[in-house]
Amino acid sequence: MDMAGFGTTALRRIAVDADHCIDTQALVAQIAADREAGLQPFLLVGTAGTVDTGAFDPLEQLADIAAAEAMWFHVDGAFGALAVMAPELRHLVDGLSRADSLAFDFHKWLHVPYDCGCILVRDGALHHQSFESEPAYLARAERGTGSGAPWFCDFGPDLSRGFRALKVWFTLREFGMDRLGAAMLHDCQLASYLAARIEAEPELELMAPVPLNIVCFRFKGLDPNRLNADIVIDIQEAGIAVPSTTRIAGDLAIRVAIVSHRTIEADIDRLVDAVLEAGRRLSA
Ligand SMILES: *Cc1c(COP(=O)(O)O)cnc(C)c1O
Repeated sequence: MDMAGFGTTALRRIAVDADHCIDTQALVAQIAADREAGLQPFLLVGTAGTVDTGAFDPLEQLADIAAAEAMWFHVDGAFGALAVMAPELRHLVDGLSRADSLAFDFHKWLHVPYDCGCILVRDGALHHQSFESEPAYLARAERGTGSGAPWFCDFGPDLSRGFRALKVWFTLREFGMDRLGAAMLHDCQLASYLAARIEAEPELELMAPVPLNIVCFRFKGLDPNRLNADIVIDIQEAGIAVPSTTRIAGDLAIRVAIVSHRTIEADIDRLVDAVLEAGRRLSA
């Protein structure tokens, strides 16, 4: 919002429900309140796979609201949109096809090396109009090196650009959608396995539902925020695993995002053992 010149004061953060999905009633109320105040809501952003918990907003409902309110519907699917590649996960992205624009990253769940983000915009003419510019030194021509319009630079701010598409092409060509989808499904199965292990351990607690490949949990104890922050750093420094942390309703959570095709159940067991060991040691 800052880079587009609106400023973050123009951004409305909408409350989420118990599953960490956008509260559509709060959304509709906010849009009405803003219109009442003479403002012009124009952009609705839904998330397909949130960073913190992997939650999916109800995209069909958001598409309906955006249509009724004449707003642009953008979906942040940085990693979650690619769930479309696993038939078992595809229902999560229902409604995605109604987005006006979609951002997602090949460098996350598709295993393409950094960096390779992607944006799809439905209205090609509008997209072109937004970015095209034709300075004298870039004259378009019917033939010769100036031919082949529209050029890639007509669709974004970059003029010079790397050939990022090549690594995506190789990844898809070498592994194929089915195998990549199967790897993603396996990550989600490992996340469910981790969630079950946490629920079976009285010293641990799950802090959010696990709809995808992300698990948020903590070791119970006095001063849990500090304790769990220390547990995570200990495990990172020991070289056992690399969980991160986040905050769930203000409380610090150990956040495990499973994206490697090499991860197996034994790794999950090792992580749980390490959390239990560090938690007991640090609270002793
Ligand atoms: C990773 C991520 C981003 C940021 O994407 P980058 O490609 O790292 O800039 C935005 N939104 C979500 C949901 C993400 O997971």
